[in-house]
Amino acid sequence: MLFSQVAGQEEIKRSLINSINNNQVSHCYLFEGPEGMGKYELALLFAQSLFCLNFHDEPCNECKNCIKVNSLNHPDLHIINEEGKGIKREDIDDLISSIYKKPYEADIKVYIIKDAHLMTPQAANTFLKTLEEPPGDAVMILMTVNSNLLLPTIVSRCHVHKFRSVSKETIMASLKDFDGQTAELAAYYSKGILNKALNIVQGKDDILKKREEIIKIFDRIINNDSEIIYELENYFDDEKDNIDSIIEIMTIWIRDIMYVQNNLENLVINKDYIDLLKLHGKRMKANSDLIEFMQNISDDIKSNVNYKLAIDNMLLKIQEDFK
Ligand SMILES: [Zn+2]
Repeated sequence: MLFSQVAGQEEIKRSLINSINNNQVSHCYLFEGPEGMGKYELALLFAQSLFCLNFHDEPCNECKNCIKVNSLNHPDLHIINEEGKGIKREDIDDLISSIYKKPYEADIKVYIIKDAHLMTPQAANTFLKTLEEPPGDAVMILMTVNSNLLLPTIVSRCHVHKFRSVSKETIMASLKDFDGQTAELAAYYSKGILNKALNIVQGKDDILKKREEIIKIFDRIINNDSEIIYELENYFDDEKDNIDSIIEIMTIWIRDIMYVQNNLENLVINKDYIDLLKLHGKRMKANSDLIEFMQNISDDIKSNVNYKLAIDNMLLKIQEDFK
């Protein structure tokens, strides 16, 4: 792996590379950000760079240390909570028993702790003691979705790197080998999370399939009388866990309709459905407040109002604005 192969996170990459070049590596890092932002990839790459015998802004990928890290076989690279199932006191006891020993092969030991917020309180307290007296030849990289879930005394002892979402352009550039329209949809629906975009174009994430399903349902809603609301009851009941994405897909669809109504077709996301968008555009009320309405429905559902009632209201309102 090379830093140049990781899309986005330029500031973090630069800072990590500089810390090695300037011999200012901290003993503890905290990588914070949502799933799929490449925290683990960058943690491994940083570990590899720390071990590499010929590091020059990039690890060489050829020395014995690089080869062992690349196959996750380096005896001085320790990955804790690899499965993401939780970190118990015993896991931290194991870490402590190795961290104060000499490294096996390299000059240092690196500990990557995935989902560090999953430490039990006992584990966190024991871990804190290690952070208070860290050995000079160990680097710890903690990963978390949210640093507020960690003990503040742990966070304050770490060098924190916040992973930010990647721009649409960066995502498009890294998806250049895929079909253009799919890549554009993936870049849009991934909301700046590169791994999600990759999963979408590779079909491992079914949001685009869901999109087709929802567009069909939307078309049915506006082409039927209120009977359809009862017909769709079971559907929405089964999809309760997916309602966020469903409302998002519908909202993007409605916004696309507005773009078409205002001759702004170049801004449309669902370009492959342009003919249907035009048909819907002829029917939707001018100045419809449906987007705002959808946002309110989404908020209502999050604040636990009656789910069925919220969905009924949403479907009725859609019908009303497409009369
Ligand atoms: Zn190397």
